[in-house]
Amino acid sequence: MNEAAKSLICIICPLGCPISAFEKGEDFFIEGYQCLKGRDYAYNELTNPVRMLTTTIPLEGSTQGSTSRRLAVRTSDPIPKHLIFSVMDVIRNLKVKVPVKRGQVLVSNILNTGIDVIASGEYD
Ligand code: SF4
Repeated sequence: MNEAAKSLICIICPLGCPISAFEKGEDFFIEGYQCLKGRDYAYNELTNPVRMLTTTIPLEGSTQGSTSRRLAVRTSDPIPKHLIFSVMDVIRNLKVKVPVKRGQVLVSNILNTGIDVIASGEYD
């Protein structure tokens, strides 16, 4: 019997099925999923893992007491996992001032991914 190449927990629904993937030539044999969404999740996780990135940044010109308010931001779509730290470097250096509308594009096509960084909060 082959060694499991990777063990995963499917995060698509609350059942959290344990999934095992075995290398099979240049492909994978995947087992343990209970539906096709789980199989697709595992395949994508093995070949091109992506993540939604959510974080907060200081919001210039808006304070609450003596501290700056923070603006919730996120990527418009999941980004390749290997780019998360590079995207965070860009986000960390953003200078955003009030007013900010929910959904406002803060960085368009970040790192040529075709994905935007947008505000998920709103401040006047
Ligand atoms: S494999 Fe299907 S049933 Fe199992 S956790 Fe994933 S989505 Fe849910």
